[in-house]
Amino acid sequence: MAHRYKLGKGETCSLLVEDESISPEHAIFIDCGDSLRIEDISKNGTYLLRGTVTRRLTKHVIEPLRHDDVLFFGFFDQGFDVQEILDQIKAMRLPVGSQRVRCGVHGIIHMENQRCPLCPP
Ligand SMILES: [Zn+2]
Repeated sequence: MAHRYKLGKGETCSLLVEDESISPEHAIFIDCGDSLRIEDISKNGTYLLRGTVTRRLTKHVIEPLRHDDVLFFGFFDQGFDVQEILDQIKAMRLPVGSQRVRCGVHGIIHMENQRCPLCPP
């Protein structure tokens, strides 16, 4: 399942950018494993530089990103490399095996890499 990471200056965001022109929740990144998608949800916009062309993303439209894209948020003058954002998101992912799962027989919630205590070995 794809995980979502919010970028903005609010405390609900896992990617923080401090600037007056940044919304509390400015954009959502959708983690697709080796690639990212983005949805702009901001007031002042998200801008995508691809090659030599910059365009403003349409609000609430999910867009696939390339590794060599650069993003600009609001009027903040610093660009963000998509590859760097992807690296940051990869570092935030839960390690494999650390997810909680529920035993289908007993309904007990346990760690994915451990067995249900009631299931026979
Ligand atoms: Zn069980």
